[in-house]
Amino acid sequence: MNSANRFDIITIFPDYLAPLKLSLIGKAEAAGIIEIGIHDLREQTSDLHGSVDDTPYGGGAGMVMSPEPWGKAIDSVIELAPDELHELIVLTPAGEKLTQEMASELTKSRHLIFACGRYEGIDIRVSDFYASEKNFKVREISIGDYVLGGGEVATLVIMEAIIRLLPGVIGNPASLDEESHTLKSTRGALVEYPSYTKPQEWRGLSVPNVLLSGNHGEIAKWRMQQALIRTKKLAD
Ligand code: SAM
Repeated sequence: MNSANRFDIITIFPDYLAPLKLSLIGKAEAAGIIEIGIHDLREQTSDLHGSVDDTPYGGGAGMVMSPEPWGKAIDSVIELAPDELHELIVLTPAGEKLTQEMASELTKSRHLIFACGRYEGIDIRVSDFYASEKNFKVREISIGDYVLGGGEVATLVIMEAIIRLLPGVIGNPASLDEESHTLKSTRGALVEYPSYTKPQEWRGLSVPNVLLSGNHGEIAKWRMQQALIRTKKLAD
């Protein structure tokens, strides 16, 4: 069994995923912590035009992505991690909303397959079929209550949220403990306290004295208060 977490992305716009070569994710791949495959859905079509969509049954505007190329594309990426449980992530604004907790859960998945929809989305039978397959889990995920043109940007968002949590990706893993949505009080998850760096005075604005005091107990107390204030403001 390979030790790297594997991510396969199926899309009609492979170039959209170019940012995966940059920054933390690019470095994680170069270090062998993750493996990434980007697959062009049109390679699974047999007609001259590489058609991946058709008109919706029942009528209505727009086109729906056909199940056949999706089935072929997903079957072909299964072969790339044959011993793993495969988790198929279908990007859709109709899915469960991405949270930090979900990203953390997804770090445990050894093989994630991202299905990037376009047009009016993917024929639902693709999700239904793989949900009933052995060694498969299907999750429909949305990155928020708005509609994008395709699932590629959503894939980048979800992958970045997962990959930065994997061991060895972030230089100082302690920085993950105090972040927004991970930081906890007895009242639940909080957003992070405000941060300051040098200079001590900038455009007439000073760093709060407590942060200069060297008193770690007082600093922790102040940060927790600020996190609570910010979290409450968002909830109001
Ligand atoms: N007709 C769909 C609906 O109303 O739910 C919207 C389709 S959208 C134009 C095309 C594709 O973009 C979707 O299939 C999905 O892959 C992706 N997408 C759009 N908004 C998204 C979101 N908020 N989260 C995740 N994926 C999204």
